[in-house]
Amino acid sequence: MKATKELVHITYDIAIKIYEGKLTRKEGIDTFVGNGRMNPSIAADFIKNIKCLLEGKKFTRTNNAYSMEYFFKNIYRDYGFKGLSNALRALNLHIEYYEDYQDVTMHSMRKIYSEYLKIYSDNPDEHEQEEIIKILEKENKTKDQIVQELKTLKPTDPELITISSKSYKRDNVTIAKIKKLRDYKCQICSTRIKKKDGSYYIEAAHIEPKHLGGNELPNNIILLCPNHHKEFDYGDLKILEHTSDILRFNLNETEYSISMELI
Ligand SMILES: [Zn+2]
Repeated sequence: MKATKELVHITYDIAIKIYEGKLTRKEGIDTFVGNGRMNPSIAADFIKNIKCLLEGKKFTRTNNAYSMEYFFKNIYRDYGFKGLSNALRALNLHIEYYEDYQDVTMHSMRKIYSEYLKIYSDNPDEHEQEEIIKILEKENKTKDQIVQELKTLKPTDPELITISSKSYKRDNVTIAKIKKLRDYKCQICSTRIKKKDGSYYIEAAHIEPKHLGGNELPNNIILLCPNHHKEFDYGDLKILEHTSDILRFNLNETEYSISMELI
């Protein structure tokens, strides 16, 4: 399967539209072939492979390393950890199949696999929070109910909480609830990042780090966009005031005042 970089990008967009039901498979393939840019069977292979990556299923025809890397980068961006988890499973099945069948070692595919496996394994908390948020959305709780749950939390509560018969870390459940309550917005700049699946990405920071004895209660957690999170963690930070209502701090010579009220 050979394709220029530009074609790889277009292929991804079209395959996603087909996957999401915004285009039929035939319309998608016609778009390529109609423009005389790709032969129909190659277009069909690309579309099939992207579908398999999204669904965690084995694919048999291989892509070049540039395409695979591009698909992984974008699936992670558009479908978060769930998408990444499926893509990893699919690529693993593909490598097993192809190496066995062709008697080769797929060095570049293995490299992409381990690179993204590392991203996936380094963020187990984000992954878990994403899952919890999906459950919270289904439960359709009001903000008032979430506030009540957060207000009655105690540091002595069990470390693991069972929801929908699965155990989650208490801290991740708390953070997921705060994310929903605060509409996934950065508490410094109000930015929120919309993902392709319609959900939002936002990060949580512990004001007093957990390894320094900071607790896991809502009063010690703020939501930050990726830029402000890194600045908060690595910048010159001085906490000026921290109560249940307000957090005032100086960060790299700028003073901020953030409401800690749950409302
Ligand atoms: Zn921000």
